[in-house]
Amino acid sequence: CGVFGIWNHPDAAELTYMALHSLQHRGQEGAGIVCSNGENIFGARGMGLLPEAISQIQLDSLTGYTNAIGHVRYATTGASELSNVQPFIFKHSKGDLGLAHNGNLTNARQIRLALEDGGSIFQTSSDSEVLGHLLLKARSMNEQANLKAALNMIKGAFAFLVLRKNSLSAALDNQGVRPLMLGMIDGAYCIASETCAFNTIGASYIRDIRPGEVLTFTNEGIDEDNYSQYRDSKLCSMEYVYFARPDSEFNRQSVYNVRKALGEQLAKEMNIEADVVIGVPDSSLQAAMGFSQYSGIPNEQGLLKSRYVGRTFITPNQEMRERAVRMKHAPIRDVIEGRRVIVIDDSIVRGTTSKYIVKALRNAGAKEVHMGISSPPLKHPCYYGIDVSTHAELIAAYQSVDDIRAEIDVDSLSYLSVEGMHDVYRRHGSHGECDACFTGDYPVEIVDYLLPEEK
Ligand code: 5GP
Ligand code: SF4
Ligand code: MG
Repeated sequence: CGVFGIWNHPDAAELTYMALHSLQHRGQEGAGIVCSNGENIFGARGMGLLPEAISQIQLDSLTGYTNAIGHVRYATTGASELSNVQPFIFKHSKGDLGLAHNGNLTNARQIRLALEDGGSIFQTSSDSEVLGHLLLKARSMNEQANLKAALNMIKGAFAFLVLRKNSLSAALDNQGVRPLMLGMIDGAYCIASETCAFNTIGASYIRDIRPGEVLTFTNEGIDEDNYSQYRDSKLCSMEYVYFARPDSEFNRQSVYNVRKALGEQLAKEMNIEADVVIGVPDSSLQAAMGFSQYSGIPNEQGLLKSRYVGRTFITPNQEMRERAVRMKHAPIRDVIEGRRVIVIDDSIVRGTTSKYIVKALRNAGAKEVHMGISSPPLKHPCYYGIDVSTHAELIAAYQSVDDIRAEIDVDSLSYLSVEGMHDVYRRHGSHGECDACFTGDYPVEIVDYLLPEEK
């Protein structure tokens, strides 16, 4: 998912809409904007891409509110239905709340059962709702203390935005698995999952939110606080590999450069002769470029991507995903015919994309097809908000690289090594990213021990 928030700007709703547009790659199932004006909390939500989810009329109705949060959703927990689209609004006599969450809580089920035992009634099947209940159940009048106490009860990976009548709070999980960035526009603070949102609206990028931090914006300014002890960030590897937009920066390093370096590293590790290197658009183009620059094998555009098909991985079922992949990629025969082709993709999850692409390249006359993957084999499910799916669906969880090579029908298949991937991150100033989906070494405790889809 993607989140954005802004405090005390006359165009809060419009800027939130534009920012969400630039975060659309982070979720395409639903979107919403919730605003506050010192008295009321009010919002609009809908299913689908942003223009489908929020109409111009709805956006116009939010004009004049000076504080806003927004969310684009891709379902990792909870069904794909309107009730699960965020930001959530909680109406309460203590003061209404708006809530937006990117990530996944690993003890949401446990907390929910306890709250339901105590009489709480949940409105959605989303894990994110528990934070709202915890905040509203708190007995103290000190909102900041209540927020910190609630943040200490939840476990998992989260970037949370909480909008109240008189404040906006932003909090990050204490290992910093999900990204969250602080910016400023026209003297107003804003907060976003990725810095590309700042570029889009013309805001400046101030800094990354640190693990365990909670920031609160009010008309008096910013309160920078921690609810948990500071630790080194364990930012999600897949943000660099696949998820984030290449013009975004984490830790002041551009995703573009890191992705290119992953391709270079793959070229170092994969010693194959070929005539041309092609990337699977769009997320693997930078890795293919880096691969080409290191290996000296020319990089060309061998696959064309339809502009009108969204992220196929995010579509909810397998049959639709397969159709979408076919609609999405077309080979360019002149680049492929009679040549030994290295095709670079950022990852193989179920193998849907690779199988189709290899077939298409062979049909276009490729003499040899070698595949290079600019990340290690995905062997373990993610419990932290990226849909790398169940164990059973992950092709590398139960098959060797050579079995996968045979199944997707390539002449050779190479993955980036885990060490190689971390080398690249280290060269770009990082502290040891989360790599649990590759290694099974989970940095954040998983209490529920249930796959997101099983909830
Ligand atoms: P597959 O087709 O093998 O199931 O998925 C691989 C494709 O999905 C790759 O082209 C990659 O760009 C994309 N992808 C890989 N990992 C993820 C992920 O965690 N989330 C989403 N949404 N897409 C992914
Ligand atoms: Fe990212 Fe993988 Fe960690 Fe999930 S398990 S947060 S996808 S690196
Ligand atoms: Mg892809």
